[in-house]
Amino acid sequence: MASNLRLPPNFHVIERGWLSANQIYIWSESFLDVIDSGFCTHQAQTVELLNLQMKTLTDVSPRFLINTHLHSDHCGGNAFLIDGFGFKLLVPFAEFDAVQDWDEAQLGFTELGQPCPVFSAFGSYHPDTVLTLGNLDWEIYQAPGHEHEAQLLFNPEYKILISGDALWEKGFGALFPNDQGFSNFEGALSTLELIAELQPEIVVPGHGSIFGNVSNAISFAQERLSYLRDNPERNLIHIANVLFKFKILEWQSCQNDVALSWFQNTLMLQRIAKLLNVSIQELYQQSMNSLIKANAMRVNGGQLFNA
Ligand SMILES: [Zn+2]
Repeated sequence: MASNLRLPPNFHVIERGWLSANQIYIWSESFLDVIDSGFCTHQAQTVELLNLQMKTLTDVSPRFLINTHLHSDHCGGNAFLIDGFGFKLLVPFAEFDAVQDWDEAQLGFTELGQPCPVFSAFGSYHPDTVLTLGNLDWEIYQAPGHEHEAQLLFNPEYKILISGDALWEKGFGALFPNDQGFSNFEGALSTLELIAELQPEIVVPGHGSIFGNVSNAISFAQERLSYLRDNPERNLIHIANVLFKFKILEWQSCQNDVALSWFQNTLMLQRIAKLLNVSIQELYQQSMNSLIKANAMRVNGGQLFNA
């Protein structure tokens, strides 16, 4: 983390490795609020880290758990934190009904072939409103692109932006095609423009370190976005690789035929194969080859390993 970044004293970022998204703890003299909860297979660590934080805070009780968006690496620990600590969950307003009905098709965990334990929300939070967390005001903005319903939190006093997967130091989260085959490049671009207008001095991304050189990050993301927009096939291949890498990170190792069968049963990968006009087996082979070439996976005797 760049040491010259001025953060509030009651604000702490836990930078997680893949697969879990980063967690943010913000507290007042009475309450601790947490942003995002990580991936379900890492929940023991999520709890351990939270317990460590709680030990440093006296007379402070858990209050809100807030999700920037509902991807399995951001909300996989929700059920555990709600049951274990009594957090009240706030989700982006446009996802509230889907959560309460646990509408798998709408929530998209199955579509991406990722697990997420069922949870229910206490309420939702809305764009164009202000949430007070840790005695700081956080303006809420909608951030379409990576995830249509995602929301950003921005504190004007410290100029801190909590960006989820809308902006990382080097890029942003995958731009998944919807069931019409359409990736929301326009939405992603408008989100980057919105961020530029807010002029944050510090960004806390969903993945990777907190960073300060925000205009550089925005330029990098804009270039990446126009590259993907001009090469939609590259975008689709990239998504297949990202999903495969995510799965091998989750499993660490698996039989070749188990991975192939996961490919065949994952709706997003079926969609991508169709859009690229290749069979699912071809997409699987292509994707495996690129991960091996990138040293992100290795194969030994019919067994795949994370690398
Ligand atoms: Zn995401």
